[in-house]
Amino acid sequence: MSSKWRIETKCLQEGYKPGNGEPRVLPIYQSTTYKYDSTEQVAKLFDLSVPGHMYSRISNPTVECLENKIAALEGGVGALCTSSGQSATLNAVLNICECGDHIVSSSTIYGGSFNLFAITMKRMGIEVTFVDADSPEEEIQKAFRPNTKVIFGETIANPKISVLDLEKFARLAKKNQVPFIVDNTFATPILCRPFEYGADIVIHSTTKYMDGHATCIGGVIVDSGKFDWQNGKYPLFTHPDPSYHGLIYTKDFGAAAYITKARVQYMRDIGNCMSPNNAFLTNLGLETLHIRMERHSENALKVAQYLAHNDKILSVSYPGLADDKYHSLVQKYLPKGCSGVISFRIKGGRAAAVKFMDKLKLAAIVVHVADARTSVLHPASSTHRQLNDEQLLQAGIEPDLIRFSVGLEHIDDIIEDIDQAL
Ligand SMILES: *Cc1c(COP(=O)(O)O)cnc(C)c1O
Repeated sequence: MSSKWRIETKCLQEGYKPGNGEPRVLPIYQSTTYKYDSTEQVAKLFDLSVPGHMYSRISNPTVECLENKIAALEGGVGALCTSSGQSATLNAVLNICECGDHIVSSSTIYGGSFNLFAITMKRMGIEVTFVDADSPEEEIQKAFRPNTKVIFGETIANPKISVLDLEKFARLAKKNQVPFIVDNTFATPILCRPFEYGADIVIHSTTKYMDGHATCIGGVIVDSGKFDWQNGKYPLFTHPDPSYHGLIYTKDFGAAAYITKARVQYMRDIGNCMSPNNAFLTNLGLETLHIRMERHSENALKVAQYLAHNDKILSVSYPGLADDKYHSLVQKYLPKGCSGVISFRIKGGRAAAVKFMDKLKLAAIVVHVADARTSVLHPASSTHRQLNDEQLLQAGIEPDLIRFSVGLEHIDDIIEDIDQAL
């Protein structure tokens, strides 16, 4: 493995390196358990004094190769795969926060993350303050409290398709001595690597572009290794862990303290791990990620330009458009493209939006985005239907908003389909 490789090469070559006569393709180690020569060997594993696999809830050789590949793509010190993107968000935050803690989050985030923060974590005693990510730094600063432990945002928000000012959030994180967690699902490390702009932890729903073919639900947490957990605010990392004979994560694992704790303590106890089969399929998806992201972005820009010039369309949101509100942030953070998801509003309100969707032939109505095949969704009646009108608008979603995930079909076929449906 070489850190000098370009990202395209890393998509194909990182993570798994077969030795002489070994399988060329990453094998699926469909085994829950591992065999040892002596009781002493097992004891050492449980003390975490030697590396190795104990049990597939905690680690598995197939999943490990995928984790190493994703860590290399993002430029982190380590990664941990989870059973879903939701699990990645949950574990990433709960590896840090306890009852009584507080987090600051951009309000324009994925609907599932919004519910998780606003309802479920609140029930666990973790409070969230949602902020308008486009507000000036001083304004967002007011949301911080002495018990704030995390700041959270999405590189390209789903489904508002707004672009986060990563450096602004990173400055707020530094100033308040809290880690900055970025959901980088839509951008993928091909289009943006948030660690380069000061993020501390990156998460993904691998279900989306990383898999890319709608075959498996999955998630991942990546650790930059750069956050200072010893700043006095994070005793979970600097005080002895009674569940490992008083091990201290910052002392025993240094830069990998966060991701090690996420695995050996949090994943051990919660158990929302990725299966070896799903890791195999996700790895296969990653091998073409660089090519797909380029084409998704190219096709999406053409669709957005077509919609922008169509008089049946009320508005189009795609940061790749030259007159988009986020275009200057795009030039800074997303110079290679803005991914494949567009949102737009049709003249005629919610009814016209539903009618348009029902007329599409090539684009399929699915509760999914980021598939190789073009897909379409109405957030207000699906992913975000739990939100009331006020919360919808706070999340940047009008009732007539359509989320269109541009696939890898020929661009003319995609546009002809939209044209006939309009
Ligand atoms: C889909 C999605 C999630 C949740 O991921 P699942 O794999 O569906 O659990 C989180 N964040 C973003 C940005 C998403 O698009």
